[in-house]
Amino acid sequence: MMSPRKLKIRSLIMGGAAQAALLTGFPALAETIALTGANVVDIDGKAPIRDAVVLIEDERISAVGPAATTPVPADAQVIALPGKWLIPGLMNMHVHLALNLPGASHVYDESHESIALRMLDNAQKSLRSGVTTIRLTGSQDGIDFTIKKMIDNGTFDGPRIHTAGTSIVPTGGHGSYEVNGAAEAARAVREQIKRGATWIKLGISGGISDTHGDIAASPFTDDELRTAIEVAHRNGVKVTGHNGSPIAAEVAIDAGINGFEHGYYLTAPVLTKMKEKNVWLVPTIVVTQPGARAFYKKIGSPDWYLDRVETAGRTHFKTLQEAIRIGTPIALGSDQYPWEPNSGTTATIREAELYVKAGMTPLQALRAGTIESARMLGVDDEVGALRPGYFADILAVDADPTADIAALRSINFVMKGGKTIVGGTDATANGH
Ligand SMILES: [Zn+2]
Repeated sequence: MMSPRKLKIRSLIMGGAAQAALLTGFPALAETIALTGANVVDIDGKAPIRDAVVLIEDERISAVGPAATTPVPADAQVIALPGKWLIPGLMNMHVHLALNLPGASHVYDESHESIALRMLDNAQKSLRSGVTTIRLTGSQDGIDFTIKKMIDNGTFDGPRIHTAGTSIVPTGGHGSYEVNGAAEAARAVREQIKRGATWIKLGISGGISDTHGDIAASPFTDDELRTAIEVAHRNGVKVTGHNGSPIAAEVAIDAGINGFEHGYYLTAPVLTKMKEKNVWLVPTIVVTQPGARAFYKKIGSPDWYLDRVETAGRTHFKTLQEAIRIGTPIALGSDQYPWEPNSGTTATIREAELYVKAGMTPLQALRAGTIESARMLGVDDEVGALRPGYFADILAVDADPTADIAALRSINFVMKGGKTIVGGTDATANGH
C-alpha cells in the first residue's frame, strides 16, 4: 500500500503525463482503475459482493468492496461493467504451447523459429480466452523460457507462465528428454532448473499417443525416479508425473512426488493416498472425452489413436469421479490449448464443466481453475482470488458461475495485471 503523501506526488506526476499525452497523442496511464457496477464472486464461497467497486493500482488490486463503502477516486479511470460477475483469471495447469500429436504431421519437421511463433500465438490466444496463468508441462528446446521472459518483460501480452522445461523420461518413455540411470536423471533435472524451470515433469508411465509399450507400464527404475525427485526438491522445485498407472503412482508417491497428470487408471487406494500426502491430480479430462473428437479429426489423428482415446476415456472419467468423491486435491489442466474450441466453448472451460458433470459443485470447479491451481503452484497469495494485494487478473462473465459453471462461456472482459486485454470498451475517464 502507498502512503497518502506518495500517492499525492504520484498523481502530480501523472497529471503532467496526462498533459504530455494530449500533446503527443499517446494515451495517458490513469492513476487508478476502478471496475464498477459488477458483482464480485467470493472464491471461498461466501456471499458475493453486489454492485462492487474494484480498485486497481499498477498491477494489483488495492481495494474490493460494495460501492456504498468503496469510494472511486476522482481521477480514476472507470470501467463500467454493470450487472456482470467478476471472477479471478482462469489458471490452466497442463499446457503445451506447441502441442504435437499423432496426425499433426506438419509439426514434425517444424523449425525452431516456427515453434517459437506458434507458442507465442497460442500464449496470446490463451490470455484472450481468459486464462491468465498457465503451467507448461513439457516444451521443446528451451523455447518456453524465452517466451516466458518476453511476456514477463512486457514485450508481448500473454499469461503468467510456470514451466517444467522439457519433460524427462527413461529411453522410449512418454516424453522427449531420454535418460538412463540415476546420474543422467539428476543431470536432466538440474539442466531444466538451470534454464529456469519451476517444475519438473517426468514421464513415469506410458501415454495414449505412444506407438509402443503399455499405457499402464512404469518404466523408470526406483533409483532413477527417487533421484530425479530428490534433486528437484533440493532445489525447491516441485515434480509432477505424467501418469496413468497405479503401479508407477505407488513408487512415485513414496518418493515424494507432488502431482500426477491425467491419472487415467488410478485406483481408489492410490487416490486416497494422494489425498493423505497432498499429491495433486491434474485431470486433463477433456482429452479423452467426446468433445475433443472434432479436434483430433481436424489434425488428422489416425484411427488407432481415436480408439485408444475412447477406451482410456471411459476409465478416465470414472477415475475423476472417484477422485472428487475421495477429495484428492485437483487443479485444472486441459492438455489442449487453453483456447482450443471444445463443445462450443474452450478446452479450459469445458474441463471445468466436466468436473461438475463428474461430481464437483460449480464453486469447486471454479476453485480448481483458480485458487486451487494457485495453491498447487505456491502462489495463492498473489493470484487465484480477487483480494487487495493480489494481481489484478480479472474476468467478467454474464452470470454467477457458482450457480451454473456454464456462465464461464460468457467471458467478455479480460484483465491481466491491471491491463485490459479484452472488452472494457465503454471505459470512461472520471474527473478529467
Ligand atoms: Zn500433456
